[in-house]
Amino acid sequence: MKNEAIARRGEPWDVVVLGAGAAGMFCAAQAAAKGARVLTLEHRANAGEKIRISGGGRCNFTNLRTKPENFICQNRHFVKSALARYQPQDFCALLDAHRVPYHEKAQGQLFCDRSAQDVIDVLRSEMARSGAELQLNTAIEAISSTPEGFAIQVDCDRGRQTIGSRMLVVATGGKSIPKIGATGLGYKIAEQFGLKIVETRPALVPLTFTDGTLAVMKSLAGVSVDGGVSCGKARFDDALLFTHRGLSGPAILQISSFWREGDAITVDLAPDAALFDQLRSARPEAGKRSVSAFLAQTLPRRLAEARCAELGVTGPLAACSDKVLRSIEESVRRWRLSPAGTEGYRTAEVTLGGVDTAQINSRTMEAKNTPGLYFVGEVLDATGWLGGYNFQWAWASAFAAGQDLADRLAAR
Ligand SMILES: Cc1cc2nc3c(=O)[nH]c(=O)nc-3n(C[C@H](O)[C@H](O)[C@H](O)COP(=O)(O)OP(=O)(O)OC[C@H]3O[C@@H](n4cnc5c(N)ncnc54)[C@H](O)[C@@H]3O)c2cc1C
Repeated sequence: MKNEAIARRGEPWDVVVLGAGAAGMFCAAQAAAKGARVLTLEHRANAGEKIRISGGGRCNFTNLRTKPENFICQNRHFVKSALARYQPQDFCALLDAHRVPYHEKAQGQLFCDRSAQDVIDVLRSEMARSGAELQLNTAIEAISSTPEGFAIQVDCDRGRQTIGSRMLVVATGGKSIPKIGATGLGYKIAEQFGLKIVETRPALVPLTFTDGTLAVMKSLAGVSVDGGVSCGKARFDDALLFTHRGLSGPAILQISSFWREGDAITVDLAPDAALFDQLRSARPEAGKRSVSAFLAQTLPRRLAEARCAELGVTGPLAACSDKVLRSIEESVRRWRLSPAGTEGYRTAEVTLGGVDTAQINSRTMEAKNTPGLYFVGEVLDATGWLGGYNFQWAWASAFAAGQDLADRLAAR
């Protein structure tokens, strides 16, 4: 259907949803399934672009172990209500109904067997089944309040139009990966309506290094190790990957959400290894065997060599004093590093911060100061850890808003 026809048919819409990502599409389908006339506006040519590239193309669409503790939010109670009302099993049931095959990877993470496109297809099909309309290639230019609700000025293939709606859902996501459509529009709308923004920053993002450390990282680019990383009180044990810019891999992405400029991180390259004891007990029979050869039993060889080179430990294990062995353990188990920064929104999986949840009703996602204005998904200051939590938040917050929108309309 042509965009113009859609705009004419629905006016004024019960609900206009801004952004056809995970949260926007799911919210639209929920509200429409309960009888609301819903139009979703998206500035890109395709809906769900971030879903498409998520989870390495297989979309880690939820985590069976989702708990409020897996989220970073200034108001730590905020996510509880929505997460309790729409759980990972609920989204699994939806995929089951659409016969989408999926599997569990480590730690409760669920991925599509085939591709992330399956999740997009489910959302599109739920929207179509419930009668929720989708208008692509539509840039949102301005929002204003009207006596009936909201006026949305857009620029689409038919030129400039104003679309009226009783209620408005902002589901425009965060700032990460501008190349596939991220903008800061949701934050601007929030500010326009007097809501505060918790400072935003890239998260679940690789860390970068400069100077001497960068040379070490570069020399190890491509090496990965099952390790642990801590920053302050946060610690994550998972894979680390050395890159040409610094460090990446799941453990680093996780810790990036807790790291701030100027902080040091501590890298444990061999969790659970009692290295000092192992080295000391091997020493009497080590002969001419080098320390790096011994370490290479625990670490990738290039990494073992690099740690020894940095410490200046070049001789045989048999010649190492206890003090040297302790310094080796220290440099492997507690390697302190000072990242220079992150790779930024260009590669960040999510945006930390966002619309201050103190001003949002945690049961409905409606702004407390503006009846009819809702925020769902990543645009809110509710950021999940790596592992499917961010999509679970998208579904749960969208479900909460979708139910409330429909209930509000029914009560009119
Ligand atoms: C590479 C990558 C991999 C990821 N993998 C996972 C994973 O496996 N599991 C997981 O849980 N999370 C993952 N995430 C995070 C997850 O994708 C997001 O948290 C989630 O998509 C947020 O959903 P959302 O609907 O709030 O926002 P989005 O999915 O970002 O949707 C926002 C929509 O709004 C549109 N929009 C933005 N600005 C405008 C505008 N001005 N006008 C009109 N439309 C606009 C965008 O084009 C987009 O379609 C990943 C993220 C990235 C970048």
